[in-house]
Amino acid sequence: MRTVRAIDAVRDAVRRARDDGARIALVPTMGFLHDGHLALVEAARLHADFVVMSVFVNPLQFGPTEDLARYPRDEAGDAAKAAERGVDLLFLPTVDAMYPTGTAVRVVPEGLDLRWEGAVRPGHFAGVLTVVTKLFNIVQPDVALFGQKDAQQVALVRALVRDLDMPLDLIIVPTVREADGVAMSSRNSYLTPDERVRARALSRALAEVRRMHADGQRSGATLERAGRAILEREDDVSVDYFAVVDPVRLEPVAHAGDGCIVIVAARVGRTRLLDNTVLGA
Ligand code: AMP
Repeated sequence: MRTVRAIDAVRDAVRRARDDGARIALVPTMGFLHDGHLALVEAARLHADFVVMSVFVNPLQFGPTEDLARYPRDEAGDAAKAAERGVDLLFLPTVDAMYPTGTAVRVVPEGLDLRWEGAVRPGHFAGVLTVVTKLFNIVQPDVALFGQKDAQQVALVRALVRDLDMPLDLIIVPTVREADGVAMSSRNSYLTPDERVRARALSRALAEVRRMHADGQRSGATLERAGRAILEREDDVSVDYFAVVDPVRLEPVAHAGDGCIVIVAARVGRTRLLDNTVLGA
């Protein structure tokens, strides 16, 4: 595996791989890699010959009171894990390399970011779509991989590629979980041991909704009430949202057919956690 920090070095390496006939995959991350990220690499290897992973904690997608400064970082550990799983090129840009002159232009979503994460984190998705667009332009991948873990991000990146005619395929990888059901996340490292136990309530609530749906319950409101009740029973867990939504517009549904997504965000202590499940999948 080669590690590079300069945009030109990425372009050169990708050009050479493409000249050799390789299909190029991009796995964008913010690092502190876990098995969820590495599942994206495994999927990338099935769909491409040359896998580029970016590790960049993108300041543009953090609000002024968010965890940018304390976001967990481990460059050496990330490089070892990426190399072991078969990443060919690891791109570790600096903030200066990515935003040398600030941001006179951003990619701003319309509407899809007004609810859920977008409502709690104003500007977050403009930051995400801007950096994703930059990474797509730098790497020019044939395929890019994202995790279902971030359901609203998936909906927005799909809209980005569709609405701006970006010439690449998206592959969405199912959420990788710890043995007790908790969705893997770099932010789990913020949890105290006690909070880590309480964090199970998110996946437990989703599992209960899945069970009810499998038993035939199709009322969005009933499913939501049942899931929310499980979270509200847990001390020190406060629900930001728990909703059954359609997979494209992410609007709450009265009738929860297959393919609808149950999304949850909750604070466990001071840590905000996200999870979701696709019904009928
Ligand atoms: P992040 O480093 O949190 O920005 O995540 C980078 C990519 O990994 C995103 O596409 C995430 O959706 C994906 N990802 C994060 N956690 C998981 C997980 N537990 N399972 C699958 N994909 C994940």
